[in-house]
Amino acid sequence: MQKKYADVIIDISHEKVDRPFQYKIPERLAEHLKIGMCVRIPFGKGNRLRTGYVVDMTDETDYPVEKLKEIVQIDAGNVPMEARSIELAWWMKNRYGGTMIQAMKTVLPVKQEMKPVMQREVSLAVTKEEACSYLAQAKAKQQVGKVRLLEALLEGATVNYSVLTAKLSVSPQTIKSMEAQGVLRIESFQEYRNPIRFPADAGEKKHLTEEQQQIVDTFLKDYDNGIKSPSLLHGVTGSGKTEVYMELIAGMLERGKQTIVLIPEIALTYQTVARFYRRFGDVVSVVNSRLSAGEKYDQFQRAREGKVKVMIGPRSALFTPFEHLGLIVIDEEHEPVYKSDTTPRYHAREVAVRLAEMTDAAVFMGSATPSLDSNFRALNGEFRKFVLSRRIGESVLPRVQLVDMCEELKAGNMSMFSRDMQQQMQQTLAKGEQIMLFLNRRGLAGFVSCKSCGHVLRCPHCDVSLSEHKNKMICHYCGYEAPKVTKCPECGSKYIYGFRAGTEKVEEKIKEMFPNARVLRMDADTTRKKGDYENILAAFSQGEADILIGTQMIVKGHDFKNVTMVGVIAADLSLHASDYRAGERTFQLLAQAVGRAGRRQKSGIAIVQTYQPDHYSLQHCVTQDYDAFYAEEIAYRNLMEYPPAAHMMAILLSGKDEQATETAAKSLAERLRQCWPQSAKAQLRIIGPAPAGIGKINDHYRRIVYLKCASDEELICAKDEAEHMIKEQEEMFRFVSVHFDMDPVQAY
Ligand code: ADP
Ligand code: ZN
Ligand code: ZN
Repeated sequence: MQKKYADVIIDISHEKVDRPFQYKIPERLAEHLKIGMCVRIPFGKGNRLRTGYVVDMTDETDYPVEKLKEIVQIDAGNVPMEARSIELAWWMKNRYGGTMIQAMKTVLPVKQEMKPVMQREVSLAVTKEEACSYLAQAKAKQQVGKVRLLEALLEGATVNYSVLTAKLSVSPQTIKSMEAQGVLRIESFQEYRNPIRFPADAGEKKHLTEEQQQIVDTFLKDYDNGIKSPSLLHGVTGSGKTEVYMELIAGMLERGKQTIVLIPEIALTYQTVARFYRRFGDVVSVVNSRLSAGEKYDQFQRAREGKVKVMIGPRSALFTPFEHLGLIVIDEEHEPVYKSDTTPRYHAREVAVRLAEMTDAAVFMGSATPSLDSNFRALNGEFRKFVLSRRIGESVLPRVQLVDMCEELKAGNMSMFSRDMQQQMQQTLAKGEQIMLFLNRRGLAGFVSCKSCGHVLRCPHCDVSLSEHKNKMICHYCGYEAPKVTKCPECGSKYIYGFRAGTEKVEEKIKEMFPNARVLRMDADTTRKKGDYENILAAFSQGEADILIGTQMIVKGHDFKNVTMVGVIAADLSLHASDYRAGERTFQLLAQAVGRAGRRQKSGIAIVQTYQPDHYSLQHCVTQDYDAFYAEEIAYRNLMEYPPAAHMMAILLSGKDEQATETAAKSLAERLRQCWPQSAKAQLRIIGPAPAGIGKINDHYRRIVYLKCASDEELICAKDEAEHMIKEQEEMFRFVSVHFDMDPVQAY
């Protein structure tokens, strides 16, 4: 069916042009144009040529036909979007705010079509004897290029073209002329950019435990009967969740279906991927943020062609263009990284559920510490819940001991290590077993202050304190750097230095205490280069160190068999984050950290140091009782109307001019209050504006308005109203940017 008109979204991210524009489809393109294609169109008063995406095609128009412009051409260099992706993009734009083009770019992770990498191989087309006589001729004529070329070809059967030109400096003309003479031949083949570089031995499979088998059977039976509501698997680390995922994937393969497996980027290690690869071989592929555009393009291309059937990756792997999507697995579903931190600020779990609805696929998520959100939905029947109650084999969960650091101080111990921690470390080292020391977040406590007058050094561009690093001070928000000061700029005292409790400091202290212990450190500073992360883990795993010190990076799903002690230096740093999810985060991090100790046969211990031993997140961590923690946390959320008890939307306004930002924020809140009058009984509540927790970043002032409501749809209406006002009051919002965040996971 050839259509007359096309709705086109222009590739400009601005609220004003954030709607489809209608164009006439010229006769010559009618046959070729499809929804999702990229086109060139004249746009604006000057009719400048712009790029856009066709999101719909119709035979009707509300405009006078003579006023419609024509599509100029199809932009062949771009990857077309599937209709399904466009639908998903509309849904995301609607739910999370931002422009359609931003949403479309999110669901289309590879925009440009990439040229395949062609490899050329050169080989002799004549016998060796003939080649030798050519060589002799060339030598006589002192044709050095020809000499090198023939010598190389006589040595190896085939030689890579680029090796000849780059390494042996043979000119392309020389190669060409010899090809013309029939002395050699050039063969081209397409090299497929495979990011996985290890051999496959497909078929490895474990015999499932009864608990595991039952989950798999139930899920697949329901699947075949069309029951596909999202499932949540709650199982402690080491209870065999991954083995369940793999069995479900096998089930999908039998049914001719494809699977997307989401794993937080940081847990996406060689070991994890290798496990899937060993089981399923070549049909597995991986995407991650470190892949080149070419590698990514190839992955998606192979997925589109159906050669890849299992795609593993972080958040963005959701947008793999599978034609026969059957299942989306989300491992570690509680991880905050599943929430995007750029517009549209989507949550991968929500998008997965939406995508599954659209494609008649199923979602299966797992965690040792399910998010409050998912557990809430499981309990109210929206999600199905499965439980794996035991660890595989004989390994037991470690014993957890809380240490009150205030007591330590009272007893005269000024060190960052409690006496229990020191003693336990000594014993563990003596037994030749390994230790992991976990510190919450790099440099969080690294601020530089004067010990005489209390002055804190701050970033001149952001409303945060500077952190000390070796011999300079850094702002983690904007990258501002300044040399370390030796004198307080306020009072002149020389007692000005960082409250250093970062990983570097821990390492320093450990080396003082245990000079013979071999120590590895893993944090953002030691893992800058590709491969650093894997190298450190591999070294530790092979017993090349006794102690591994690190930030949350070290607590993710690694299975070290000789680790019998985990130490948490300061458990409550994450409790101080000004965020309603702080308790949840702390519980999850501690549960994960604790879970690192005593896998396999050896029993383990976790020592958790804290200044708030009575906090329920820590208390329930000692008993490792998720349900008790959940009960207490959800009561607090209910009381405060925080998600998942209600929905919440953050509206962040930021601008260089503080007054203008304030005015815009106030007007916006005022407008919303007019539409949703506030009273004690109001369904939708409006809080603010107030300066954001971090009031200034990069010289931009930040104001925040929070909306709370039981219904997310009502919040979307409020967002639409706000977006409407921003379009209308162009002047007011010219230099103030606004973004929306549905059920935020970060503090602003
Ligand atoms: P989780 O994903 O819950 O942390 P895994 O699936 O990684 O758990 O399983 C933990 C360990 O137990 C792994 O080494 C895995 O190979 C092993 N395992 C899992 N299921 C079985 C099983 N049914 N039989 C034997 N070993 C198993
Ligand atoms: Zn001072
Ligand atoms: Zn800064």
